[in-house]
Amino acid sequence: SFAACGQKQSAYKVAMEPTFPPFDTTDSKTGELTGFDVDMMEAIAADQGFKLEWTNLSFGGLIPALQSGNIDIIASGMNASEDRRKQVDFSDTYYDSGLVVAVKAGNKTIKGIKDLTPDMKVGGQIGTTGADKCNELKKAGKIKEAKIYDGLDVAMMDLQNGTIDALINDLPVTKAYMTAKPGTVEIVGDVLNAESYGIAVKKGNKELLDKINTGMKHIKENGTFDKLYSKWFD
Ligand code: GLN
Repeated sequence: SFAACGQKQSAYKVAMEPTFPPFDTTDSKTGELTGFDVDMMEAIAADQGFKLEWTNLSFGGLIPALQSGNIDIIASGMNASEDRRKQVDFSDTYYDSGLVVAVKAGNKTIKGIKDLTPDMKVGGQIGTTGADKCNELKKAGKIKEAKIYDGLDVAMMDLQNGTIDALINDLPVTKAYMTAKPGTVEIVGDVLNAESYGIAVKKGNKELLDKINTGMKHIKENGTFDKLYSKWFD
């Protein structure tokens, strides 16, 4: 082991926002950060022989923390968008996603994004593409309010108690919520866009990015990625 050498091995600081299961969440018993992103990133680190130190941040705080050097890696179900590619460097993408509209289960009025009206409040999570979509709808006068949340846990509760009429969030995460808590919320209409998640590093950190890409390639080749995928997704 590394400890046997009498030296403390340096670790990369990696951050995620933990209200995004099954990608990023906390263990209900231990409170520890867990999820597909944690398992995948740990498998990459093991393959490449480095250690990780995990922290959680608001989704909107992730890119600023990377740019300021407070963290080295973002592993947080982050869409490798054109916009973000100007600010950080992304690994090869590892999951294809997209935004969907969700309503309270049994809602008969909203069957898709076109049914949102200027008297409605629509929620999204801070710093996400879902929040961008909410702000865009508000700006266009199509909804009354874009309500921006720190965490998706509270947004999901507010959708059920009627504080918001709809929530714009990523398909796999809303789907997982529906499976975990049947009869609470439902997805309406089509997927709004195409997103692909990538691991982010500070712009120009090629050394670390190469390690992440190589490790990701290896765990895809040796079956580890698929094993972790089956663990977290049905
Ligand atoms: N669609 C989101 C984004 O990348 C998902 C972010 C999240 O909440 N983890 O903006």
